[in-house]
Amino acid sequence: MGEFDLIRRYFQRPAAAGVEVGVGDDCAVLLPTPGACWLVSSDMLVEGRHFLSTVDAARLGHKALAVNLSDLAACGATPRGFTLALALPRADEDWLAGFARGLLALADAHDCPLIGGDTTQGPLNICITVFGEAPPGQALLRSGARVGDDIWVSGRLGDARLALEVFRGTAALAGDGFEAVRAAMECPTPRVALGQALRGIATSALDVSDGLLGDLGHILAASGVGACINADALPRSAVLAAQPLALQRECGLAGGDDYELVFTAPPGAALPDVGIALTRIGRIEAEPGLRVVDGGGEPVVHGLRSFDHFAS
Ligand code: ADP
Ligand code: MG
Repeated sequence: MGEFDLIRRYFQRPAAAGVEVGVGDDCAVLLPTPGACWLVSSDMLVEGRHFLSTVDAARLGHKALAVNLSDLAACGATPRGFTLALALPRADEDWLAGFARGLLALADAHDCPLIGGDTTQGPLNICITVFGEAPPGQALLRSGARVGDDIWVSGRLGDARLALEVFRGTAALAGDGFEAVRAAMECPTPRVALGQALRGIATSALDVSDGLLGDLGHILAASGVGACINADALPRSAVLAAQPLALQRECGLAGGDDYELVFTAPPGAALPDVGIALTRIGRIEAEPGLRVVDGGGEPVVHGLRSFDHFAS
C-alpha cells in the first residue's frame, strides 16, 4: 500500500459542515463562523515518551486527539477541525485501522473533522493540530484568576499516574481496579462541553496534563497571584483512595495525563452542570506561591514536582 492509498483508505472522510475542501488538496479550505476568534493548538505524542509501544492502536488514536481537544476545552473553544501529521515505521494495516477507528470516533463525537495532515515513514510520532472557535473576548485564559476566587477541578485526579506506577512496577494493582486506571491513562475524556459552559463564568482555566502543582502554578504565574489548596479535597477514584496516602498525594498533586480542567471562579458563581463532578480544592490568595494543606489546615510537606521534559 502506497502513501496516497494509505491516506485515502484511513484518513479521507466525506465532506463535513464548515469544510469547503478537506483531505486531498494542497490545503484544507474552511468556512469560519463570521466574527468568531480562532483557537489553535498542537500536541505531539512520541513513542516511549508519551505512550508505551504496547498500547492498543484504537486507544492511541483516541488519546492523540483527546489531548488536543483538551486544550480547546481549557480555553472554552468549540472544536472545528484538526490536522494529523503522522510518522510511521511501516504501513501496518491492522494498526492503521485501529488507530483511525479510535481517532475518528472521538472526532465524530465532537463534530471535529480531520481536514488534512502529513504522512511519512519514520519512528512512530503523532502530531495533531486542532482548530476551534470562541466568541471574541470569551476564550478562557490562564491569566484571569483574582484574589478570593475559588479553585475548582473537574472529574478526578491521579488515576493516570497510578496506572503509570503500576506499569513501572512501583505500585501493585490487578483486575478491574487496574483496568479502570489504565483506561484513565490510555483513554482520557476531554472536557469539551464543560469548557464551553465555563465561558463568561470561569476567571481562568487550564487542563491538567503535567500534574496539578505545576499546572496550577501556570495559572498563578500568569495571573500574578498565589493560592492555597487542600490535598485532602482532591477528587480521587475509589481505586486511588485505597492506595497508601503518600501514593495518593503523589498521584493527585503531581500525576500527569489527567486532562481534567482546573479553573477559578468568584465565590458563589453559578457553575454549569454538564454531568461532570466539580470539586472546590482551594482559594486564590494575594501571597505569591502555592501552599498545600491537609483537611485540618496543616501544611503538607512534599517534594513533588510536575512533569517537565527537560528538568534535570
Ligand atoms: P503535499 O505534498 O501537497 O503536502 P501530501 O501529499 O502530503 O500533500 O498530502 C496529500 C493530501 O493528504 C493533503 O490534503 C494532506 O492534507 C492529506 N494528508 C496527508 N497525510 C494525512 C494524514 N495523516 N491525515 C489526514 N490527511 C492527510
Ligand atoms: Mg502540495
